[in-house]
Amino acid sequence: MSMKQPLFRDTFLEIDLDCIAFNIRQIRAAANPGVCIAAVIKANGYGHGALEIAPVLMENGADMLAVATLGEALELRQHYPSYPILLMGLTPDDYLPYVVKNQIIQTIDRLSQARRLSQLAFEYGTTALVHIKVDTGFHRIGFPDTPQALEEMKEIFALPNLTVQGIFSHLALTSEEENERQFQRFLDVISALEAAGCRCPYHHIADSISFVDYPEYQLNMIRPGAILYGLKGFHIGHLDLKQALSFKTKISHISHIKKGEGVGYDYLWRAERDSIIGTLPFGYADGYPRNMRDKGFVSIHGQKAPLIGVLCMDQCMVDLTDIADVHLGDEAIIYGNGEHGTLDIDSAAKLAGTNKNEIVSRLTARPPRVYKKDGAITKVVLGEHF
Ligand SMILES: *Cc1c(COP(=O)(O)O)cnc(C)c1O
Repeated sequence: MSMKQPLFRDTFLEIDLDCIAFNIRQIRAAANPGVCIAAVIKANGYGHGALEIAPVLMENGADMLAVATLGEALELRQHYPSYPILLMGLTPDDYLPYVVKNQIIQTIDRLSQARRLSQLAFEYGTTALVHIKVDTGFHRIGFPDTPQALEEMKEIFALPNLTVQGIFSHLALTSEEENERQFQRFLDVISALEAAGCRCPYHHIADSISFVDYPEYQLNMIRPGAILYGLKGFHIGHLDLKQALSFKTKISHISHIKKGEGVGYDYLWRAERDSIIGTLPFGYADGYPRNMRDKGFVSIHGQKAPLIGVLCMDQCMVDLTDIADVHLGDEAIIYGNGEHGTLDIDSAAKLAGTNKNEIVSRLTARPPRVYKKDGAITKVVLGEHF
């Protein structure tokens, strides 16, 4: 299939759907038999495009999709009427009717919302599905470690028109001792509930890192995010994965400057020799970290071209002096999989002083997303403001 849809610019994100399929199959193969996999595709699938990757994940081993906000859940629901969608964040009271009407599986950590969902489900003639969140130490959301919270959770199990489908918590990944303490605390809550006859199908605490590093924390459900995209955050365990995303552009302008001349705002870079400067049409408004100045590089003809001067909103400059035979329109790889001298997302995160998930989720809607399967372009998605 040829690329019929014009991109209107030379800067774009390329997402290899075969890598996504490979990664979820690897996760399925590594997971214990029967474990429910909720593929985390919040923040537009970590920048990869939630709508495009959702079916690839569901057709290659995921059982459920997980997102962070109601808007993300509703967008998925609109396109995929039958995929189970777990909303891992809280929803403000006023918007709970949307949750029930659209069969979103809602995370709750208070009795009042459970009652409201139960009532709404009665009104709409349906059943509300919830996962109860337990705070085991992270102190973000979740029922606290108190006798009153336990009583409230028990009451939730007894509500009509509401099914507790799961109970979950989240690890802070501070240390092995603390992980173990959080995990035991979580198991204690489950036991206390079960002793009172409150049982639910799914128990889960593992994200990507905990799934790979501590397979014993799988229980019967996991919530991998980063590893779906081939971002390897683990340290102890190992899983072979393929980075699905690359970020590409083309040289839009070439300047020949004399020793001593400056480049960019405040001339913050000055030529120490006669130099060839390349301009590239991407900038921090595309989601590239502005603090990559003096640290980042792109790969041109397999060689590193360092970013020089201050990164602009829409363009940046690189030093081409040491790269042979460069021409206007030559490809520059901003993020690659590390091969051919490209900067992979892990290395980009280290240079920018952040983590891999931030590098990809901060990619904005401006760069078009180009999807590939079997080496051919299958779809192009332009953002709202490209
Ligand atoms: C984002 C998120 C995940 C996935 O995290 P990764 O580190 O990307 O695997 C899992 N669980 C919750 C509650 C999350 O918010």
